[in-house]
Amino acid sequence: RIAWVAARKGTLPAEQRIVLRRVGLINPDDIEEYILHDGYSALGKVLTEMTPTEVIEEIKKSGLRGRGGAGFPTGVKWSFVAREKSEKKFIICNADESEPGTFKDRIILEGDPHSIIEAMAIAGYAVGADEGYIYVRGEYLLAQERLRRAIEQAREMGFLGKNIFGTNFNFDIHIHTGAGAYICGEETALIESIEGKRGQPRSRPPFPTTHGLWGKPTVVNNVETLANVPPILLNGADWYRRFGTPSSPGTKVYTILGNVNVTGVIEVPMGITLREVINIYAKGMKGGAAFKLAQTGGSSGSLIPASLQDTPMDFDSYAKAGVALGSGALLICDENTCVVDLVKVLMNFFRKESCGKCNPCRIGTQRAYEIMCAIAEGRGKIEDLDHLLWLSDNMYLLSNCGLGQTAGTPIKDMLKHFRAEVEAHITLQVCPAGVCKIKAFA
Ligand code: NAD
Ligand code: SF4
Repeated sequence: RIAWVAARKGTLPAEQRIVLRRVGLINPDDIEEYILHDGYSALGKVLTEMTPTEVIEEIKKSGLRGRGGAGFPTGVKWSFVAREKSEKKFIICNADESEPGTFKDRIILEGDPHSIIEAMAIAGYAVGADEGYIYVRGEYLLAQERLRRAIEQAREMGFLGKNIFGTNFNFDIHIHTGAGAYICGEETALIESIEGKRGQPRSRPPFPTTHGLWGKPTVVNNVETLANVPPILLNGADWYRRFGTPSSPGTKVYTILGNVNVTGVIEVPMGITLREVINIYAKGMKGGAAFKLAQTGGSSGSLIPASLQDTPMDFDSYAKAGVALGSGALLICDENTCVVDLVKVLMNFFRKESCGKCNPCRIGTQRAYEIMCAIAEGRGKIEDLDHLLWLSDNMYLLSNCGLGQTAGTPIKDMLKHFRAEVEAHITLQVCPAGVCKIKAFA
């Protein structure tokens, strides 16, 4: 059942495809092709051979961790919802993938939509939920269309609806589309949005596991996380643990972008290094230029300098190195990239996407952007660097949600790893990469 598929036949080493094993091989609009490739067998096995507790224990044993970016243990999250005594519970698939440069979930949704439906039904059985929502990014029109068709087909074939597989388990799924707000990918803003309210994050705790959609216990899982569930239950937790690292088992789907020879999507075991991704899968830096940094996880990840190229890419190794793996985007930048320019662009993104609910984030992201503009234009002062760090610390400590809490991460990384380059913009009025149009040189 493990498909070893060469990404581009004969040109790249084999990937380790678990989540993407059917993508590109089956017609996503044809449920019969899905069924022919093991589709809905995990749901059948779970409903007829396993108790809900056994399902949760197997997912816990597999060590599956959330692939949206945070790496929270999936089985533990499910157990929190399962233990709640409530007549109504929900499963939400977070498909509002909006992290810049991240399009892994889109590939899964467009290429294998039934895998998400099957996984959500399994999650529903495990925790005692009979209703699910897929919150799909508004711009993902093809994914929405394919999901709608897949849900209809699953209903027609009896994989959704009442008495699934002849058991007394009932489950159905609705689709809710986003409308272009990055913040609606934050799980509680997403829930507010489904409830018809303005998409602004709630305060946590309480977490959705106890107070989720309509105040009911709710599992919120990312698309890639869910796509791992059916293969784990079909093949067993021990099989899954053969891939990846002991603390981050399995694979990770990455989107590779930037100054490399081959960009695109790969699925590889957790724990391979950035150097391996660049040299093996991306076929090296474009034009032979030197690697300068990678940005992981879109805007809320970290800036990875060359010194961390050999750190295993898994949740714990990255956390130990003081960086975050994030959602799976790998923006690879060469020596011609200016870190000031890059961080300025990121701050512009955060100030525009801040929902404005709390002051530290709303004002902090705006001030950070203004300071980055000043530095990029040669108007910066050396004391601005301390001000940037102060802003970052305060956004981290005082913001209500992950957006504000991580908005200062690129600033901190910039000053930790590339301070001399930033100072050159201020004291020498020079952009060493030749990107910023500093007035003295214009
Ligand atoms: P988090 O660490 O606060 O929570 C992760 C998950 O665990 C959530 O579902 C949360 O409800 C749950 N959880 C944590 N503690 C819990 C507890 N005590 N009880 C019950 N449940 C608990 O992270 P977050 O703020 O939800 O998400 C931040 C991540 O999102 C970042 O890593 C970032 O990279 C990622 N992100 C991804 C995208 C994307 O497009 N994929 C976009 C923006 C951000
Ligand atoms: Fe909104 Fe930012 Fe506050 Fe999050 S941290 S609630 S995005 S203002």
